[in-house]
Amino acid sequence: MTKLKDISRKKSAELFEKAKNFFPGGVNSPVRAFKSVYGTPLFIERGDKARIWDADGNEFIDYCCSWGPLILGHNNDEVREAVAGQLSKGLSFGAPTRLENELAELILNRNKFIEKIRFVSSGTEAVMSAIRLARGYTRRDKIVKFEGCYHGHSDSLLVKAGSGLVTFGETSSAGVPQAFAQETIVVSLNDREAIQEVFTAFPEQIAAVIIEGVPANNGLLIQDHEYIHFLREITKKHGALLIFDEVITGFRLGFEGAARHYNVQPDIITYGKIIGGGMPVGAYGASKELMSHISPDGNVYQAGTLSGNPVAMAAGIAALNILSRAGFYEKQEEKTRSFVEALRAYIRAKGYEVQIFTIGSIFWFAFTSQLHIKRADEIDPQSMEKYKVMHRALLNQGIYFGPSGYEVGFISDAHSESDLEVTLQAIKVALDVVF
Ligand code: PLP
Repeated sequence: MTKLKDISRKKSAELFEKAKNFFPGGVNSPVRAFKSVYGTPLFIERGDKARIWDADGNEFIDYCCSWGPLILGHNNDEVREAVAGQLSKGLSFGAPTRLENELAELILNRNKFIEKIRFVSSGTEAVMSAIRLARGYTRRDKIVKFEGCYHGHSDSLLVKAGSGLVTFGETSSAGVPQAFAQETIVVSLNDREAIQEVFTAFPEQIAAVIIEGVPANNGLLIQDHEYIHFLREITKKHGALLIFDEVITGFRLGFEGAARHYNVQPDIITYGKIIGGGMPVGAYGASKELMSHISPDGNVYQAGTLSGNPVAMAAGIAALNILSRAGFYEKQEEKTRSFVEALRAYIRAKGYEVQIFTIGSIFWFAFTSQLHIKRADEIDPQSMEKYKVMHRALLNQGIYFGPSGYEVGFISDAHSESDLEVTLQAIKVALDVVF
């Protein structure tokens, strides 16, 4: 069995001990605590292009990319300069700015799936607001979500969610009132009958069905186009809205995200992550008619002190301008495809029981012989032990993957051919360690 020397985590461990005095579990977001992988979390000092450096001076090629926003990698020149240019003009005004118009125009001119948009400060806020809009518009209370889909941490949506919750072996959260949870109906992905039954059981009570553009918080559960079209039809038939949560897939699967990928018109789309170029931005968008129900024009209230923050808008504009350039997504996808193909060839040659699922520039390792995984309950929790071994072996070779086997990896524009080649060799070694 290949043996790898563990990297030094001395300084990170000291910082983590200190952080435990300040924050629950020593972190400000649960998965960062490295609970389901080996060792203390790494405290990151800086990032540049595809690389990050931790407090102990270890260098990594980063495939977590801040959980998705950094499609341009770290410290992108154009984004940094745009942010720096705004800094001297003021950090926040709580009043409209030209920059909000500019980012909205950039998005709406190139996205035929929404006509109006509202900026907020996180993906959670975006989805929470979209749900309120759906309930306010339809005057119905119930929502349908899918097991394993994560939509942020607002009360209605912390029911059988993925991401940190599944990492910790729970599927819901304490503190969510039973009355709220009762309004959230959870069904399995890729199960038409389940949805049909829900609409039969709760006639004219369902405000919306919400699905991640491509479910990517509980493994990468790639759905069939036909199933997504079925969701569009059945929601329409029953007067419910279809919400695409594109916090991950928006501007990642292409500028128009999953809506374009499936060629489906959802009623509301939520965005986050990439839209802010690495700064805290979320957004939701819909038709003019639907958005007219949002305050101050309509009676669905939604607001935010830092919404449309000028520094964050400047970062978003710079990032999205780059993404709008011809060939951007084709290049990303091609890079990802050849990386994954090379890995698959090695896996086949060795006969290892591991699959790599991929879409756009997203990938996910599943330690299984199953060729298709479309539902959360098709993932074997035991396989996470193998991920843990792989994760440690990768860190020891300077490759940073998300600290949970349920999390996907992201390839950015900054990942060069040679970064990918180095990573390929490291993954081969890591798999040899696992098996
Ligand atoms: N929706 C999806 C699909 C997500 O992946 C996430 C975060 O990972 C969210 C919503 C919540 O976004 P945020 O963490 O910015 O609140």
